Amino acid sequence: MIPALADETSASKLYLKLQDMLGDVVPAFELRLKSELAAKINLLKVQKNAVILGHNYMEPALFHSIPDYIGDSLDLARRAAATNKDIIVFCGVRFMAETAKILNPKRTILLPSLKAGCSLAASITASDVRGLKKKFPGVPVVTYVNTYADVKAESDICCTSSNAAAVVESLNSNTVIFLPDEYLAKNVARETGRHIIFPTKDPRNGSASDLDYQMIGWQGRCEVHEKFSLEDIADIRRQFPDVVILAHPECSPEVVDASDYSGSTNAMIKYVEQTHAPRYLLLTECSMGDNIAAANPEKEMLRLCSVRCPHMNQITLEDTLASLKENQHIIDIPEDIRSRAARAVERMIAIG
Ligand code: SF4
Repeated sequence: MIPALADETSASKLYLKLQDMLGDVVPAFELRLKSELAAKINLLKVQKNAVILGHNYMEPALFHSIPDYIGDSLDLARRAAATNKDIIVFCGVRFMAETAKILNPKRTILLPSLKAGCSLAASITASDVRGLKKKFPGVPVVTYVNTYADVKAESDICCTSSNAAAVVESLNSNTVIFLPDEYLAKNVARETGRHIIFPTKDPRNGSASDLDYQMIGWQGRCEVHEKFSLEDIADIRRQFPDVVILAHPECSPEVVDASDYSGSTNAMIKYVEQTHAPRYLLLTECSMGDNIAAANPEKEMLRLCSVRCPHMNQITLEDTLASLKENQHIIDIPEDIRSRAARAVERMIAIG
């Protein structure tokens, strides 16, 4: 998706447009300050021949003002692979910037803050994956894109939340190792009719000769999506019986079950755009709810918004300006790891 304000270099025009879109969610003095920063960034990115990619979870003023492209991690990985700009500034978290580097090694990739990590990516190491491969020899490894480059390099194929079930089924294998998101794995196991085990949770589980499973999972969790509960859903339904609830597949299977729809960030955006419910509740990162509300002003979006990703929250307009000015922080990946990770990512992209 291409936002409308990415080329705007006048702070006053940016302010008027942002005020129109976000006046209900961001105070005016803050929007004025952010418009000035955004105008400087939009000017500098042209001077430096840079492109800015913005994830759906960026805070609303940044999301609507500076990215040349917005979307989920797969969209942005595709944009990163296709760009001919000298510099890619990734307004997202580290594993996303690494994926951009994996796909476009000749470009300079900048991440505005080194603190922008991810609880899922941090839950597993390359050595953990090698351990599982030793324990389950010959079983193909699927890893979620929310992992670091060295983990991707140990994998046969990557997946996103939108194509995870298709990726698993594309392998034509009775058994797959699916890492590292416990809830996404359980949701995919259910969708593809597989029985899943977690050898790290219960060491009695998962000897290579135990054939009573078709998926082997890991215990990683998204610290944002794991917070939504059945009580949250019951409370909202009590207050608003006509609400349509959308849950990200990183939520627990019970929460996904109790919702009306489950899909990736992009699938949720499309669902809201293409349906006409009296009101919606999105069980996902709260800035994304704000961004969808701003893009669909005629639709009522309920907020359950105590859940902001602390990693995405590290990316600010101030840091993005500093990133462009100072060429920081450059993402580098050793070529041996990058080329092996690229095979897994490109295999995923070929599936769609
Ligand atoms: S929302 Fe969850 S999966 Fe996404 S970056 Fe934050 S912690 Fe990681």
